[in-house]
Amino acid sequence: MIDLRSDTVTRPGKAMLAAMMAAETGDDVYGDDPTVNALEAQAANLSGKEAALFLPSGTQANLVALLTHCQRGDEYIVGQLAHNYKYEAGGAAVLGSIQPQPILAAADGSLPLDVVEAFIKPDDIHFARTTLLSLENTHNGKVLPLAYLQQAFQFTRDKHLALHIDGARIFNAAVALGLPLEALARYCDSLTICLSKGLGAPVGSLLCGSEAFIQRARRWRKMVGGGLRQAGILAAAGSYALNHNVARLQEDHDNAFWLAEQLKSLGVAVTRQDTNMVFARLPDEQITPLQAWMKQRDILISTGPVTRLVTHLDVDRQALETLVGEWKAFLSSR
Ligand SMILES: *Cc1c(COP(=O)(O)O)cnc(C)c1O
Repeated sequence: MIDLRSDTVTRPGKAMLAAMMAAETGDDVYGDDPTVNALEAQAANLSGKEAALFLPSGTQANLVALLTHCQRGDEYIVGQLAHNYKYEAGGAAVLGSIQPQPILAAADGSLPLDVVEAFIKPDDIHFARTTLLSLENTHNGKVLPLAYLQQAFQFTRDKHLALHIDGARIFNAAVALGLPLEALARYCDSLTICLSKGLGAPVGSLLCGSEAFIQRARRWRKMVGGGLRQAGILAAAGSYALNHNVARLQEDHDNAFWLAEQLKSLGVAVTRQDTNMVFARLPDEQITPLQAWMKQRDILISTGPVTRLVTHLDVDRQALETLVGEWKAFLSSR
């Protein structure tokens, strides 16, 4: 099976499973799991933050970050298409009484700071208190420019806002920029990292921030049901991912670039290629038949008004050659 629907579909390989089998464990709610503690220390170290917290999912990591930054009646400014606005079932509003103020992202994935400024509410009893700016990096595969991160950080200092980065794929950004994580993470108060996307772990996310922030986040994680017991078996997969699967993200980016070029040469309207994602606009009459054609050949893609193809560690160049060959055959069959 060749699966390009998302980079979440990766399955743990033999070496990762062996690391999980060998993990030393303890009860992490008591702080006793040495493998979780080591992963959290590793994440703190890589991000240059004082501390980190291991959570079951990126959605929970973002929710816990928002609950920790904001009080009931506070507001966060966030992208209209950001995961922690649009794709987390309204968790911050439902569970935290935190109001989102969504705004449109610019073409490069950033939230224009003049627009953010215009949406910061004055201190007035009519308004929710604007306390946080939340950015996403990468956003739909786009790497936020480093200069923008610097400006956004300074801007939030001037405006007395906290800055959170949803960095589900922040290592794709770091690798694309050729920088260590710390060089990006220094321009925020907190960031989340998904271990279960391109990094290839089956489960897990990390939230990084100051010691005091993470201590408060730990209580929220417990409250929302994210306190795990012998979680070392999962953390071992995370550590394995950080040790072995970061630098290789470049391969996914190169593969996505190669795929985009190949599809263009078949006449497919590739609209964008960023990091490990390729976006294409198919003629309406191809949307359903192409997906079915591929499925019959054990290739999974999700076609739609915009078709997104995602490269990851379980699709190599040969698999992509197969995909391109089948795409070509599909086009000639019509
Ligand atoms: C996938 C993703 C998350 C969290 O996802 P989970 O499936 O809950 O781990 C958060 N933010 C972004 C940008 C994502 O792509």
